[in-house]
Amino acid sequence: MNIGVVGHVDHGKTTLTSKITGQATDRYSDEIKQGISIKLGYADACFYKCKTCKGIQAYGVTKKCQLCGGERELIRKVSFVDAPGHETLMAVMLSGATLLNGAILVIAANEECPQPRTIEHFSALKMHGIKHVVVAQNKIDLVTKEEAIENYKKIRKFLDDEGYKDVPIIPTSAHFDINIDALIYAMLEYIPVPELDITSPLKMRVVRSFDINKPGSKVESLKGGVLGGAIICGTICEKQKVWLYPGITKPIELTVESLNSNGVPFKKVHAGGLIAIGTKLDPFYVSGDQMIGQLICEEGSKPLMTQELEVKYSKIERLLESNKEPLRCGENIVLIIGTAAHLGTIQKIKGDILLVTLKNQAVYYKGEKIAISRLVNGRWRLSGYAETR
Ligand code: GDP
Ligand code: ZN
Repeated sequence: MNIGVVGHVDHGKTTLTSKITGQATDRYSDEIKQGISIKLGYADACFYKCKTCKGIQAYGVTKKCQLCGGERELIRKVSFVDAPGHETLMAVMLSGATLLNGAILVIAANEECPQPRTIEHFSALKMHGIKHVVVAQNKIDLVTKEEAIENYKKIRKFLDDEGYKDVPIIPTSAHFDINIDALIYAMLEYIPVPELDITSPLKMRVVRSFDINKPGSKVESLKGGVLGGAIICGTICEKQKVWLYPGITKPIELTVESLNSNGVPFKKVHAGGLIAIGTKLDPFYVSGDQMIGQLICEEGSKPLMTQELEVKYSKIERLLESNKEPLRCGENIVLIIGTAAHLGTIQKIKGDILLVTLKNQAVYYKGEKIAISRLVNGRWRLSGYAETR
């Protein structure tokens, strides 16, 4: 399953993610040997629970129990969809929330709540129907007990107002490793394993892409581009023929040369966490995440493709800074469709129906939810959502 880590800038998302994914480093050497994506493994974690010990400290990201020294049992593998430092990718992640099965919302205890980005990210989760959220009330080391309780009440009110009444709020200090076990416990308790649709035709969203060849590699030993992403539904097998949309100048038929997750090769993979596909695509077109936003599908799940899109728009009232003025004709907006960010221009507005022309080909399904961002003080900010017709 995939869990997003979201929240206002500097509230501790990256620090917290690195604490949760903890022991991930020793896997990397194997991955390098296999020549497939280390980036994808970056934010994967295994959660363990001690069979003999009781309480929250029985949980952790290490096999060895901190309490009794015994061996813990592996209970869940989770991919954390946090792109440290990538604000733009983060927006993509948020909106491609079809990928997410739940989220950790990080809120700093030493600042007023809610901050603008807290509202924005939360709105994105809500709009995509992500109900399973755990709040990390982080930086608890920087406030007094009384201040922490005051801040807790504000977080609780914010969640209540949004209709998220059962969300657990875990006080943490990512910096001092406080309550990471409690956060893991809360994720396991409150974010259920999703029901995976493995029978529908394949749909996979690309979230990373790489050239895995070292500089100076010999032509004979060059490997094709690697596409990393999340399977939304269906299964994918080695040697299977799949389509890449919108492709490069046009959709491309590809053979799946290899499948790899967490440094482990697979013959067949179904919907769930993150996966890397080895292809024979020219690495030139794939390097440096150029393939972000592409869709991998099979015959029965081919999407629609267009550069002119008609959508039904709904603004999110709570997002005040981006909704000061109504949308206008000629305005440039960003539409996030799946994991692809598209620059568009509004051509016509008729009630809540927008006609938008796009700079590049968009790939979509009927009735798909699209996040719409507007330019506010030089930055793209979520303002509402739209549905394709
Ligand atoms: P992000 O922008 O949300 O990813 O935040 P970062 O993880 O980059 O953290 C921002 C800053 O806050 C960094 O300097 C961290 O070291 C610091 N930080 C993160 N968590 C804590 C915490 O629990 N306590 C304290 N005192 N500082 C923290
Ligand atoms: Zn134990």
